Amino acid sequence: MNQTKYIFVTGGVTSSLGKGIIAASLAKLLQARGYRTTIQKFDPYINVDPGTLNPYEHGECYVTDDGAETDLDLGHYERFLNVPTSQANNVTTGRIYLSVIEKERRGEFLGKTVQVVPHITNEIKDRMQLLGNSGDYDIVITEIGGTVGDIESLPYIESVRQLVWELGEHNGIVIHLTLVPYLAAAGELKTKPTQHSVKTLMESGIKADILVCRTEHEITEELRNKLALFCNVKREAVIQSIDASTIYEVPNLMLEEGLDVVALKKLDLPKKAAPDLKNWNIFLKRLKNPKHTVNIGLVGKYVEMQDCYKSILEAFIHAGAANETKVNVISIHSEHIDASTIKEKFANLDAILVAPGFGERGIEGKIAAVQYARENKVPFFGICLGMQMAVIEHARNVLGYSDANSTEMNAHTAHPVVNLMEEQKTVTDKGGTMRLGAWKCDIKKDSLAYKIYGTDSISERHRHRYEYNSSYIEQLHNAGLLATGTNPDTGLVEIVEIKDHPFFIGVQYHPEYKSTVANPHPIFVNFVAAAVQAKKK
Ligand code: GLN
Repeated sequence: MNQTKYIFVTGGVTSSLGKGIIAASLAKLLQARGYRTTIQKFDPYINVDPGTLNPYEHGECYVTDDGAETDLDLGHYERFLNVPTSQANNVTTGRIYLSVIEKERRGEFLGKTVQVVPHITNEIKDRMQLLGNSGDYDIVITEIGGTVGDIESLPYIESVRQLVWELGEHNGIVIHLTLVPYLAAAGELKTKPTQHSVKTLMESGIKADILVCRTEHEITEELRNKLALFCNVKREAVIQSIDASTIYEVPNLMLEEGLDVVALKKLDLPKKAAPDLKNWNIFLKRLKNPKHTVNIGLVGKYVEMQDCYKSILEAFIHAGAANETKVNVISIHSEHIDASTIKEKFANLDAILVAPGFGERGIEGKIAAVQYARENKVPFFGICLGMQMAVIEHARNVLGYSDANSTEMNAHTAHPVVNLMEEQKTVTDKGGTMRLGAWKCDIKKDSLAYKIYGTDSISERHRHRYEYNSSYIEQLHNAGLLATGTNPDTGLVEIVEIKDHPFFIGVQYHPEYKSTVANPHPIFVNFVAAAVQAKKK
């Protein structure tokens, strides 16, 4: 097949309808039919990437192998498709403008007035076709962030209109995701918001090919016909997306509704074989029929907002299914932990995870959580800042360096067991300047990490500025904190463990980003297994 086909997913009525999940589910079905499919997201905000955003704004920042700091929807794409994404899969308005303005400064526009149309829209269209032009994909799904009608979405909507026109019939289609709300007082589902949203889209010159309608109740045949008639789509192209018990159910729901078949028909592509979802459904079956239940404490400071730890929560779902175990993740605010409350707060936990994070707020609670896990032999897993807290805790409570700290929290500590990497010391820009993306790590044989990974060489994704200070490795090793994973090129410590403990591991990287339905992350899988064992005792 030569022509890459494009599917654009727009959203109407309200945000948070789950465009990312619909895009990922459709991609999953197309992939399972044998099409090489990828998904990309275009976000209308002016930050060049989400790396500088507070997690409370848009949830976690997801990091790709190539070190891009991206929207958390890319995490869903990887978890569903099990194919790595890259910088090209996430573009923001900030990035578009930055690149157009840089071109202007270089004189590339040859004296022309630089305008939204055509310069910004051309840049958007070029980037929309970047992955498609690589030849690696048969189908590219592009999710447009925001809601149709927003001022800031306009250049994207116009670019979609132009591209669908340029690509020609059957090569580019638009799926519009809307809400069909239920009015309890009237006892009815309402189609009017969808009609208005489709109308707004049409005012921009785009005719939706497929409508996906989010709903809490079954949409009747009569309503489907009404939606088709008033929204100008075929009856078969009115797809219901009803609330599901888990996002991993959505590909099956979309299969039942025929979303993939309608899309293929519109793109004039053969259905090929029925989607092979065998392994996916084995995972779902295990997820829905757990034999055990464990409580795992997630100690962090962003616990008020679930999306801040999205990849960690999803990795627990994958690892739970692998262990046929329901993992209750108990969020514990690190600012609410102190010596007087910790016993009571942690009494019901079968394992403790100390989360990644930045800045001083809540770190004493995290250190107390590590100490509790170490002393009470509760399975422990520290990620990034969580690993750094394990180093600090050991230095303070085992070596007796009571002021040991990270220079991120206390620049003047006499015992900087975690400090800034040399090359970070001169960095002043915040965006895209951390240690980012995939780095290799060598693992010592005869370690927990080796048992978990089953190999002595791994690659994991990073996002941090500070590191375990190598001048303390030997002292801490002698005090029982083993460095079992190191970067082969720099010698930086990536993994720490404690020997006489049922399960204690801290990692400088973010394993949660690489956990997928097809490949649950081995640390999470083993950590959940350790929690099951701890509970039995
Ligand atoms: N704040 C720490 C650092 O920059 C840890 C970052 C993280 O947990 N992602 O090194």
